[in-house]
Amino acid sequence: MDSLLDFEECVRDSPHFRDLIGPSSVSLTNQVMKLCGKMVEAGQAYNAANQLFLTGLAELSAHNKTDDVITNCLSQFNQGLQEVVSFHSMLFDQTQRAIGQQLTNLCTQFLPQLVETRREFVRIGEDLETAAVKSAERASHLLLATRKCYQHFALDYCLQLNTFKAQQRVDILNSMFSFVHAQFTFFHQGFDLLRDLEPAMKTMAAQLSQLSAECAAQRKQLENKHLLVQQRDASGEQTVSPCPNSDAIISGFLFKRSRRKPKTWKRYTDNQLLYRKSPREEPLVLFEDLRLCAVKSTEHTERRFCLELLSIKKCCALQADSDLVKRSWLGALQGSIDFAYGDAGSQPREAPPLSPGPSPAQRPAALAVALGGPGNQRCCDCGEEEPRWASINLGVTMCIQCSGIHRSLGVHLSKVRSLTLDSWEAEQLKLLCILGNDVMNQIYEARCSEEGRVKPGADSPRAEKETWIKEKYVHKRFLRTDGEDVAAGLRLYRAAAAGDLVAMAMALAQGAPVNGSIDEEAGRTPLIGAAVGGSMSACEFLLLNGANVNHRDLRGQGALHAAATAGHTG
Ligand SMILES: [Zn+2]
Repeated sequence: MDSLLDFEECVRDSPHFRDLIGPSSVSLTNQVMKLCGKMVEAGQAYNAANQLFLTGLAELSAHNKTDDVITNCLSQFNQGLQEVVSFHSMLFDQTQRAIGQQLTNLCTQFLPQLVETRREFVRIGEDLETAAVKSAERASHLLLATRKCYQHFALDYCLQLNTFKAQQRVDILNSMFSFVHAQFTFFHQGFDLLRDLEPAMKTMAAQLSQLSAECAAQRKQLENKHLLVQQRDASGEQTVSPCPNSDAIISGFLFKRSRRKPKTWKRYTDNQLLYRKSPREEPLVLFEDLRLCAVKSTEHTERRFCLELLSIKKCCALQADSDLVKRSWLGALQGSIDFAYGDAGSQPREAPPLSPGPSPAQRPAALAVALGGPGNQRCCDCGEEEPRWASINLGVTMCIQCSGIHRSLGVHLSKVRSLTLDSWEAEQLKLLCILGNDVMNQIYEARCSEEGRVKPGADSPRAEKETWIKEKYVHKRFLRTDGEDVAAGLRLYRAAAAGDLVAMAMALAQGAPVNGSIDEEAGRTPLIGAAVGGSMSACEFLLLNGANVNHRDLRGQGALHAAATAGHTG
């Protein structure tokens, strides 16, 4: 900083004095103010960036809400760092005030006057030069007057300059003091804040070491699992859990035998079988209702580990990777079918026998399903409520008295089973639901009113019921036989191939030979037709009505062979 000017030197107007009043420290003060402004500006930019960073951090920790302790710590840290941002703001404000403002005040207060005085002083100085040149000739009194005036201005300027310098010294010290004080406050606040955060930091440190220990344990577990899988692979052991609970969902990879969809991923949920070709695809419903399906193991094909799902509409052959996986799926699917029949109490069998055998728990379920068919809530022959018996080949339900009469007709006409005491296969129950009393009575009682015949009631004597039943099923007195162009045998074949159970029942009632070989179809029987058509229910219906599995067509193909050729193995 400049030292103060000596007034004696000023009066003497020595060359040294002239040097001293030349350049001033004003421009340097301006320079400091500019630098200070730049620093504050950069600080504010840093603060804005810091704020954005903290907001980002807060969003990140809100996203990872896994652990309360960690979430608490993070939010505490974030709050602390937010405070630091506000401390920084305060620091930059103080700096601006301390240096910028104070020095600006200094400059605006003194500089204009100083500049004006200096200009005046310089002008007088020039006048003095001129007077000095002239005094060499004669006007020495003018020189004297000008010198006095110059001295006067010089003193004045000197005084102002000294006042400015004194004020500048005070102001610069003052502003530096304020600046350092602001720094002091900033760091002090920061220290207090971090000291308050210290407990949270300690908690976090403990949590961190625990977390890293857990992380290491998890990695170890994963490695072990990896090793286990490799070992199992090596030993050929399966890694799939064999059987899920009845209400669980099984999912996995099966090979769907079809021309267009080679590899699929299937799972079943509720009563549905879903599948998707790739993990990204929305799952498609392969079978809408497993209750209307039968699942079977397939042993007769060239492929291994096959199982088959059959419904009225379609048939689907699925191939598993191994026998165990296949048995898991069979168990799960059969379990699901059983479960769907209302058999909520029973667990699915782990590995069902080839043709799904019944379990005692299924019996009440069978009754509920059978009574669900159209018209099945009343005896098909006398109308008595709550029938407990059924004819599996006719697909009707009946009361106990009528069931006795049916039994007397012989099994070639009616195969009677108890809905509560006997065991039932899903496929047989399905026939009862698809056919049922309404449909079968429309066939066997079609001409009843034309004949003027009155159907017996629940209270009718047994003899009356017996007469009626014999007229209805043995003599087929009320059956409509006219109005058909195509022979019953061919109609049965076509209905079987199409899986149309009602048309099949009609053709059978009209006397179509169940094992008749159809000339138009290369000597195939209806059973071969059903197998080729792929309808499991049609096959079942024909078998219940005496179809012979061993019958062969003209090329020597049997039903199973035909089914395998057509891709409907079962
Ligand atoms: Zn009855």
